[in-house]
Amino acid sequence: MNATAANQVSEIVAGLRHNFDLGITRPEAWRRAQLERMRTLLVERSSDFERALRVDLGKSATEAQITEIGFLVAEIDHALAQLRRWMRPRRVRVPVGLQPAAARIVPEPLGVALVIAPWNYPLMLALSPVVGALAAGNAVIIKPSELAPATSALLAQLLPDAIDRRAVAVVEGGVTETTALLQEKFDHIFYTGNGRVGRIVARAAAEQLTPITLELGGKSPVYVDDTVPLADSAKRIVWGKFMNAGQTCVAPDYVLGQPETLSRLAPHLERAIHDLYGSAAADNPDYGRIVNDAHFDRLVGYLGDGEIVAGGGHDPSLRHIDPTVLAGVAHDSAVMKDEIFGPILPLVEVESLDAALAFVTARDKPLAAYVFSDDAAVRDRWERETSSGALGFGVPVLHLATPELPFGGVGESGTGAYHGERSFLIFSQEKAVLSKPLRPDTLAATIMPPYTAAKQTLARRLLPKLM
Ligand code: NAD
Repeated sequence: MNATAANQVSEIVAGLRHNFDLGITRPEAWRRAQLERMRTLLVERSSDFERALRVDLGKSATEAQITEIGFLVAEIDHALAQLRRWMRPRRVRVPVGLQPAAARIVPEPLGVALVIAPWNYPLMLALSPVVGALAAGNAVIIKPSELAPATSALLAQLLPDAIDRRAVAVVEGGVTETTALLQEKFDHIFYTGNGRVGRIVARAAAEQLTPITLELGGKSPVYVDDTVPLADSAKRIVWGKFMNAGQTCVAPDYVLGQPETLSRLAPHLERAIHDLYGSAAADNPDYGRIVNDAHFDRLVGYLGDGEIVAGGGHDPSLRHIDPTVLAGVAHDSAVMKDEIFGPILPLVEVESLDAALAFVTARDKPLAAYVFSDDAAVRDRWERETSSGALGFGVPVLHLATPELPFGGVGESGTGAYHGERSFLIFSQEKAVLSKPLRPDTLAATIMPPYTAAKQTLARRLLPKLM
């Protein structure tokens, strides 16, 4: 990674703003061309991206395709297929009291956007917001995570040659460079990462009245009851949890259930781990690595917070931690305080469905909640009585691969949502356009002074009904 000098940042932003003001990013053809070139880059340099993701996170090539490269290609294809419709001005109804008139919503680009990405899906989370920003006709600066240096360097090397460098820049670096960026004026800041830095971003944005999207994390619960086939449920939970070695924002963080259900579930989890990753995950190229030593040490510190019923093995030289299940975890243990963000799955006992719902609602609103129950009344209660960015019945994670669903958090798990048309709208101003002919002059006869008795009656009785 080559950090961009902090004093170059102002120049880069000014250059992009100048080019935006020239109007080069506005035509549909320009937007399409950028999206197509980004797609071509992802496909043609797939193996380079796979390699970088392997270096940064020990990610397998297949997982890199499914969760990063292929995901982006699908997102670009969706944007290309929908772009004309998204860009089209939309007529809306005018109240009778204002007629004759015509009203339209015209989406226009915001200007220069800043995308700050984290390390866990360092390619996908850097480019996915950019798909929306470019589709909406913006210039954009991407700040990849310094904790995924191989992917960051590759993006900085390839992207400016692939797409129009007059409107897209990659700024590499960490806190110093991001701090310099945050002193600049942007038209939207899209931040993905933890809530502590989210607050720094929000404070800096407030100084400039810059709108923000915060894609944060949190502890996403899973609830399992005894109405579901436990072996099938365990397989899905294990897949969602241990993908990318548990370093996924929407990964199941912990499992809630009644004691008998959890003790029946535990061997199924162990079996599912074996089915997906074999008996020695450390030797399995399909299984990822912990991003750095600090996170490794933090995670190993959690291993004593319960009885290890699966996994538990770890190796600092490889930054490997087995897919691990902890049983009998106390509600107030350290592993239940912060987002785990690693391959440790606590099983947390609750006495009843009511207690599970109370457990979740007493805590920060999660990015996602997952419910495995064949009882429609149970599912209905989770839907009505808990608040989260997303709710998955019988499946974790995959709501984010459904472009028509908003992807985002609520409260501590984030502000705003993207994917599909929402990504386009985040980076657009939906301009309200109202046109009214000067003749007939309906306004003088109704709402303009002088306020005659007739106008007073109109205002009291009729006008509210006509609006
Ligand atoms: P990270 O450490 O890579 O930080 C994210 C970005 O913030 C980086 O680009 C980094 O350079 C920048 N940054 C770090 N410190 C800063 C500072 N003091 N000032 C300004 N910028 C700074 O990633 P992370 O935060 O460890 O990411 C993990 C978190 O992100 C988890 O909580 C996870 O749940 C969340 N996450 C959320 C989503 C989502 O879509 N909602 C996706 C992935 C990760």
